[in-house]
Amino acid sequence: MLDYWERRERLFRKSPEKEKQEEIRPDQQIRLASMIEESIVDGPGMRFVLFTQGCPHRCPGCHNPQTHALNGGTMVSFERVLERYDRQPHVRGITFSGGEPFLQAGLLAKVAEAVHQRGGDVVVYTGYQLERLQELAKGNAGILALLGETDLLIDGRFVQEKRCLEAPFVGSSNQRLLALSLLGNLLLNDIPVLPNGPAIERVTYC
Ligand code: SF4
Repeated sequence: MLDYWERRERLFRKSPEKEKQEEIRPDQQIRLASMIEESIVDGPGMRFVLFTQGCPHRCPGCHNPQTHALNGGTMVSFERVLERYDRQPHVRGITFSGGEPFLQAGLLAKVAEAVHQRGGDVVVYTGYQLERLQELAKGNAGILALLGETDLLIDGRFVQEKRCLEAPFVGSSNQRLLALSLLGNLLLNDIPVLPNGPAIERVTYC
C-alpha cells in the first residue's frame, strides 16, 4: 500500500510533455517565420538569420507576405535559437529580418546580447525608420534594449517604385544602412559602394 507521501507525489507528478511545455516559458519564445543557419545575402559575411513572424507595415510588393500574420509562424524558444546558433562555426553574426523584428524586441535583444557575448555581430532589418524607433523606445524598454544591441540597422519600408537589385542588402533605395556601434562601422565598411549603383544613405552614429 502506498504511503501518504508517495500518493501525494504521484498525484502532483507532471507528465514529461507537461514538463517540456513548462521549461519553455511563453515569455522566452520567439514567433518565427523561419530560421536560416547560413546566409550570405542578409548582411555582410556568413550570417545566421531569424525571419520573425508578424509585420504591421504591409508594404506593396513585399516579398515575404507569409510573414505578415501576427499569429502565424512557429514559436521557438530562446534556448533553441542559441543552441542552433552555437552549431554554426562559420557565421560572423546574426541577422533579424522579417516580418518586423521590433514587434518582438525584448526577446530578440536577449538573443542579440548572447550573440555579442559569443563575439558575433548583430544586423537588424526594420520597416520603421530609426527616428520612429527612438520615439517608440521612450515607452518600450524592449525596443530600447534591441536598439542598444544592434550594430547595423537597415531601416525603412520597402518601396516598390524604388526597388533596386544592384545595391547589396537593401530592397529599395530609400532604405538606409545605419551603423549604431563600432562593430556596425566594421560591418558598414564591408558593404561595397557600387560606383554606378543607386545612392544608398549610410550613416555612422558612433
Ligand atoms: S516591412 Fe518587410 S516584411 Fe513588412 S511588409 Fe514591408 S517588406 Fe514586407
